Amino acid sequence: MAEKRIFNFNAGPAALPLPVLEEIQSSFLNFNGSGMSITEISHRSPWFDQVINDAVERTKRLLNLDDRFHVLFVQGGASLQFAMAPMNFLTDGRSADFVNTGTWSTKAINEAKILNKEYSVAASSEDRNFCYIPKDISFNPDAAYVHITSNNTIKGTQWHTFPDTNGVPIMADMSSDFMSRPLDMDKFGMIYAGAQKNIGPSGVCMVIIRKDMLDMATDEIPSMLRYSTYAAKNSMYNTPPCFGIYTIQLVLKWLEETVGGLEKMEAHNQAKGKLLYDLIDNSDFYRATADKDSRSLMNVTFRLPTEELEKLFVEKAAEKGLGGLKGHRSVGGCRASIYNAATMEAVQALVEFMESFAKEN
Ligand SMILES: *Cc1c(COP(=O)(O)O)cnc(C)c1O
Repeated sequence: MAEKRIFNFNAGPAALPLPVLEEIQSSFLNFNGSGMSITEISHRSPWFDQVINDAVERTKRLLNLDDRFHVLFVQGGASLQFAMAPMNFLTDGRSADFVNTGTWSTKAINEAKILNKEYSVAASSEDRNFCYIPKDISFNPDAAYVHITSNNTIKGTQWHTFPDTNGVPIMADMSSDFMSRPLDMDKFGMIYAGAQKNIGPSGVCMVIIRKDMLDMATDEIPSMLRYSTYAAKNSMYNTPPCFGIYTIQLVLKWLEETVGGLEKMEAHNQAKGKLLYDLIDNSDFYRATADKDSRSLMNVTFRLPTEELEKLFVEKAAEKGLGGLKGHRSVGGCRASIYNAATMEAVQALVEFMESFAKEN
């Protein structure tokens, strides 16, 4: 079975490390000697306590989090965070600054608008179809937070350094580059990431939140929408997404024990990205869509000379066992998502295919 697996370049849900999938498979019928599958175990059992606590501890170690931070697991995907954050923090006339770098940032802004909250768009790259990350932004010093999308999954751009906000906490949607590199957590009040891009299956969103952010959150919203509910109950106010959290735990274990931490992960991701971008830059057949200084190491977006060739490219690649290379339906073109779990071998196979496709066409 495993030898029939393809090189998976899907944007999300996306590839997971093979050793993680194998461990899930081998312990699926009898988790940790319990005689039950992880999907059948009580979330109040010592077996599940061990899973969730280990996932939290590994997150803290990987990101060097100190005691100011809570690590939470929330359902509803990253999309619920677009609404939950303004509901918690934008009360009593407080305002947020947004940087609009594409589809997901726009959705985040829209939720604040639907909720009738105070906000402003401090910068946007919409003038050039979101192909770059804005620089030299001036932020409102009284904002409750500055919201950014650290990696733009659809447009193929990424913040390589985070903006200076003069002490206003950054809130980052890191869905598509969470755990791909080390972070200086001093800048961040909150990070959230839908798991299905880089750390697990869909159905769970990780939220890392600093305690002073919790202190400023309102209690006058439903329990399930309050960060404080999750923080007080170790994410188990109600039944959590157990299987998702378990898979995340195994991915974090792989990151720590097999990869060797986030510096190593970053170096590996840089090497993979370089291979692909070098090929694109040295070709007059492929054209990268994002500005050089803003390119994503996770989602490599590119065009071919014609849309017909793009269609053929995606088809022929699939025949060779290279899947998921079609660009997002809203932008067209091609996209190779090379998250943490995409191997160098997969990227090499893609580069070889791209070279021969360019020659033939
Ligand atoms: C995929 C994605 C989302 C949406 O995630 P859901 O979990 O499907 O809600 C939000 N932000 C970014 C950056 C994404 O890549």
